[in-house]
Amino acid sequence: MNKIIHDFIKEIDSRNSHEPEFMQAVREVSEDLIPYIVGQKIYHGKNILMRMIEPERVVMFRVNWIDDSGEIRVNRGYRVEMNSAIGPYKGGLRFHPTVNLSILKFLAFEQVFKNSLTTLPMGGGKGGSDFDPKNKSDGEVMRFCQSFMTELYRHIGPNTDIPAGDIGVGGREIGYLFGQYKRLKNEFTGVLTGKGVSWGGSLIRPEATGYGTVYFAEDMLNHIGDSIKGKTVTISGSGNVAQYAAEKCIHLGAKVLTMSDSSGYVFDKDGIHEEKLNYIMDIKNNKRGRISDYIKKYPKAEFKKNKTPWEVKCEIALPSATQNELNGDDAKLLVKNGCICVAEGANMPCNSDAIKTFKFNKVLFAPGKASNAGGVAVSGLEMAQNSLRYSWSREEVDEKLKEIMIKIHKKCLKHGKTKDYIDYGKGANISAFIKVADAMLAQGVV
Ligand code: NDP
Repeated sequence: MNKIIHDFIKEIDSRNSHEPEFMQAVREVSEDLIPYIVGQKIYHGKNILMRMIEPERVVMFRVNWIDDSGEIRVNRGYRVEMNSAIGPYKGGLRFHPTVNLSILKFLAFEQVFKNSLTTLPMGGGKGGSDFDPKNKSDGEVMRFCQSFMTELYRHIGPNTDIPAGDIGVGGREIGYLFGQYKRLKNEFTGVLTGKGVSWGGSLIRPEATGYGTVYFAEDMLNHIGDSIKGKTVTISGSGNVAQYAAEKCIHLGAKVLTMSDSSGYVFDKDGIHEEKLNYIMDIKNNKRGRISDYIKKYPKAEFKKNKTPWEVKCEIALPSATQNELNGDDAKLLVKNGCICVAEGANMPCNSDAIKTFKFNKVLFAPGKASNAGGVAVSGLEMAQNSLRYSWSREEVDEKLKEIMIKIHKKCLKHGKTKDYIDYGKGANISAFIKVADAMLAQGVV
């Protein structure tokens, strides 16, 4: 079996060796799926995994815009349309200077599996730009978004491809992108999710990824007769996912010890309670400030410059910033310090060594494609509400989100249960694969 996996990876690598993040995601999925596929007559010999790894379409384009000083700037825009077997392409847009094709292909590939797990009819895609919205004026961000959409609009649509937010793309950016799409198409449709509530957005969409991650951690703990209540939690990031993961932890009675950004982390041994979290939300969302501002208001807390929170003793860790932010050494330290549960709020925040360490030590470990699927699930609910031209209440959406997270947990159990451990990664990969593969087989070689 190892040889089959090795040969398969070698072949993929020969075409994508310059895309390390994409190869990392492909390797992780292949190691779970190939042994499964080989044992299943209906999938074996159909080259089905190879077909899933190759994007259906990749669009790359120039984005020109004019900054506040009148200078012409040039960025690169992308959309990776990975797989549409079970529904239109769906996945976020990321604006960050590190964005490149490798990162977007890894995110799009993961998205196909994640969207399959949600039980909703959504294919997978991802896009974005190397544009950095940090330190840009609202006018500059608007002009960039308008220019970006002036090309992207011809590739997307409510029945074709429905982008959403991701790192660097929040409510402000979605607003500008939606405005430009509407102007170009003269259509008010649900072409983007994460919209404002007064113009087609869904309640709970901003909260959904963070809340969903915590619901999933709670489902894992409940399954072993435990719960999040009273536990200590470290969280990385202080953006959309991290903020609402922290909020839900607080609501469920846990103590949040850390939050971070790319400059370092804050450690508050008394816990980041609701009022403190509101302060962080204000710094990050309204003032566009840094996490280090926290200690100006709460001087008893510490700011650790250029460090990640994994050195802090905790029972639960929720990495919610970015890919590969938690490595093997961090994982060993977390295990040594008594961490029993890790749920990924971000996409692929734990590298392969970290995942191996968690599995070896039987730590409950949820891969992002399962634990952070709440965001895209509520995006799917936003699409449903747009089609119905109707809005569900906060309670209705939250209830549906909880139900979806429970269903995802059950799917992971079905294919991930071993004698003395639940391999949530394997469970998620196999369950997600079956739905997409069955649809691809039914639709022929296209
Ligand atoms: P935001 O832009 O709102 O926040 C990102 C946070 O991560 C910020 O605190 C940012 O710090 C930090 N960060 C970004 N890059 C780095 C880096 N290289 N090193 C350290 N910290 C970094 O993004 P989101 O919260 O929306 O997304 C976070 C993660 O969750 C991503 O992996 C995303 O793909 C994933 N995700 C998001 C979903 C959503 O609905 N938003 C859905 C599913 C997954 P700084 O401000 O310093 O840049």
